[in-house]
Amino acid sequence: MFKKVHLRLTLLCAGITAVIMLVMSLCYLYVSEKGLYRNQFQAFKNDINTISTNLEQQSVISMEWLAKMEAQGNYRFFVLDNGVPFLYNQLSDPEQTEENNILLTESRNALNSLSSQDVTVTVSDGINGILSHSEYEFISPSTDSRYFCSLIQMGTGNSLLEIVVLSPLQRLEQQIEEQRTRFLLIDIGATILLGIFAWFFTGILLKPIAENQQKQAMFVAAASHELRTPLSVILSAAECCRDAAPERQEGFIRTIYQEGLRVSSLVTDMLTLSQSDSHRFPVRKEPTELDTLLMNSYEAFEPLAREKSIQLSLTLPDGALPLCNVDPERISQVIAILLHNAISYTPNQGRIELSLARHKERFAVSVQDNGIGISDADKKRIFDRFYRVEKSRNRKDHFGLGLSIAHEIVKAHGGSIQVTDAEGGGSCFTVIL
Ligand code: ADP
Repeated sequence: MFKKVHLRLTLLCAGITAVIMLVMSLCYLYVSEKGLYRNQFQAFKNDINTISTNLEQQSVISMEWLAKMEAQGNYRFFVLDNGVPFLYNQLSDPEQTEENNILLTESRNALNSLSSQDVTVTVSDGINGILSHSEYEFISPSTDSRYFCSLIQMGTGNSLLEIVVLSPLQRLEQQIEEQRTRFLLIDIGATILLGIFAWFFTGILLKPIAENQQKQAMFVAAASHELRTPLSVILSAAECCRDAAPERQEGFIRTIYQEGLRVSSLVTDMLTLSQSDSHRFPVRKEPTELDTLLMNSYEAFEPLAREKSIQLSLTLPDGALPLCNVDPERISQVIAILLHNAISYTPNQGRIELSLARHKERFAVSVQDNGIGISDADKKRIFDRFYRVEKSRNRKDHFGLGLSIAHEIVKAHGGSIQVTDAEGGGSCFTVIL
């Protein structure tokens, strides 16, 4: 499932960014291309102005001058005397002449079909009478090529000399084509890079979610497993109770009650952990006398220890201690979990020491026993949910949740909990607050 989500997120991230990039590229290209055409047209008009000024000042138009102007600006010139193509245009080969004539006709037709706002007209007085020139853009229907065109007209009375200047836009179009290809390649490259980045990035984002989901699944599986045993005992006891003689029913009811208590304690533990997971773990801190808290815990567990002939001792620092800002109920719960475990995993006649020490701004509460101890491999896992060293699970009041609850409570206080080997065997749990 996460692979699918991973892929979809990657496609979504890369797709959205690619679309944004594409739109931005298109906007840029639109503005840039418009600018290129405008600048080119302006340059063309400037050249025509120069040519017109020259024409104004000279009475004879030499072919050398025309050829020089053509070569300089990559232009094509057509000269018409009273509408008849001048000798200048007949110098090229016949095929070229034919092509030129078509182009000439098309350019003149285009001028007639264009509206006045698409044509720039300039009129001035020259030596040879009125001189006017009109610049416009047109697409040749026969070759589908674009041109800037200028029609220069000069003359007096019956004599009309026309010069048509054509500037092919192939080079500009090629430049624009190259620019578009460049942008397309950049966009494709960037999209691939973005895709790779999005794949890793979403992978990093999804990793804790996937891990969490796996943990949840394991938690539910383990919880169901733990709940199944007492529930099946309750069900079979209820069934036996129904058919049993009245004097035997009391025993079955007791079993149902005890197993019910187990289920209730397990559900309470699970609820505590779920609250901690959803950050709804109520921690009501208040200035607390930790020594008093430890004395109360000692008193509560001393009878239980005595039952197993375990010697439970309490060591407190000398003198008055500053108050510690903790939730007294929660910290008592942690001490209860540690003492309960210590009593459970220490054989009869053993020793357990509950102690409090102060290191500068910190308090250390430790529970040390001389019991069965914990191997180094298990030390890393005992704070995991439902983890028990004894796989047989024959201790009915132990679900493997105690230390994970203790860990969550201590974490909620900003403290830490650790386990070490006790001197001479056994374990020592230390809570730093
Ligand atoms: P449980 O309810 O099973 O005690 P915990 O989370 O409190 O669950 O402890 C996890 C496991 O750590 C226990 O199953 C036990 O094997 C081990 N453990 C905890 N405390 C001690 C201890 N004082 N001595 C030895 N083993 C311990």
